[in-house]
Amino acid sequence: MAKVLIIGAGGVSQVVTHKCAQLPEVFSEITLASRTESKCKAIAAQLKRPIKTAQVDADDVAQMTALIEAEKPKLVINVALPYQDLPIMDACLATGVDYLDTANYEPPDTAKFEYKWQWAYQDRFRERGIMALLGSGFDPGATNVFTAYLAKHEFDTIETLDIIDCNAGDHGKPFATNFNPEINIREITARGRYFESGDWKSTDPLSVSRMYDFPAGIGPKKIYLLYHEELESLVKNFPTLKRARFWMTFSDNYLKHLEVLGNVGMTSIEPIMYQGQEIIPLQFLKALLPDPSSLGPLTKGLTCIGCLIRGTKGGKQKIAFLYNVCDHQEAFRETGAQAISYTTGVPAMIGAKQMLTGAWRGDGVFNMEQFDPDPFMADMNQYGLPWRVMTLDSPME
Ligand code: NDP
Repeated sequence: MAKVLIIGAGGVSQVVTHKCAQLPEVFSEITLASRTESKCKAIAAQLKRPIKTAQVDADDVAQMTALIEAEKPKLVINVALPYQDLPIMDACLATGVDYLDTANYEPPDTAKFEYKWQWAYQDRFRERGIMALLGSGFDPGATNVFTAYLAKHEFDTIETLDIIDCNAGDHGKPFATNFNPEINIREITARGRYFESGDWKSTDPLSVSRMYDFPAGIGPKKIYLLYHEELESLVKNFPTLKRARFWMTFSDNYLKHLEVLGNVGMTSIEPIMYQGQEIIPLQFLKALLPDPSSLGPLTKGLTCIGCLIRGTKGGKQKIAFLYNVCDHQEAFRETGAQAISYTTGVPAMIGAKQMLTGAWRGDGVFNMEQFDPDPFMADMNQYGLPWRVMTLDSPME
């Protein structure tokens, strides 16, 4: 039984808060705080049990520290934006409280994500006797645990890893993003990057694609190579990997809009002057686009996210795909949020549960694959994200 403090009140928070509220035996008390308290109150009003709400600017370490001191949680679950990771970690250090997030730190003025800023907290968290669990969403998050599970149960050695993220859902809007538009577009318009033979290789944005035949009736879809943060920790923690890549599906319509917006400068994060005021084009675009949380009632169809691994078992070559399929409408019926928020928020709750029950414990800063995957995988089946392993005959080029 423990009290948690959840920071952020967007789509992912909506799911984490619902899921934590469903498990009072683990999350006995919940405080939900964000920049706009009315959004916390709106989430609180949907729940079957009472929770507390508060207002906080999580960029401000002093405000965050004061809130943690007042609420005295056992764990802070950060589902605000990646920009808030470091100030919230600083506040956790100041107060001696555990930390969990779903996305690694990004400096606001450079579209670049790397673990170096958060791994730099390792000694301070260890000395303080507290734990940080990084990237407990779906990708990163479940994908790290899927890799650890395959390495533990299905293979003797793992050699190549392809993380494949398919959203086969449709919201009927001409152009919208499934999670925070600013973070999403920064990620997609960045150069691609993958690991091969001990080196990182870089590609032009969205220039490498394949077709992949997805299970559960989704069928063949075009997938594009992107850089994704979990590759960095996975190649470090699984040194037998000779190649590691990340792929995501995009519709032609989505890519056409993105190309036009990019061509006219609307996806830029370089500030420009407009009528005497400095604005960042991508932040202006975010203000125009549909709020991802408004897509919940509109989105129909499935997501399928999984890890495709080639390696050896018993001296023979083996290829296996471990994946989850999630239905946008079922996610919405349960939590009022579509499957992208659902597939992120459920693993955040499950990661928090591992920490609070002691199933995953350690002093310092950890990525998900550093712990035993089994209790997490059992909880995925129990709390709404069931998974399957399928063996395949041929690898992906
Ligand atoms: P939203 O934009 O919907 O929500 C973000 C929330 O954070 C908003 O309520 C916002 O407040 C709040 N916030 C922003 N800045 C501050 C601040 N300075 N202080 C306090 N609160 C703040 O984002 P999502 O819910 O879609 O995403 C949440 C996180 O989940 C992101 O970090 C995203 O990268 C991550 N994510 C991870 C995935 C994974 O699989 N690992 C997949 C999808 C998302 P306000 O509403 O007032 O602006």
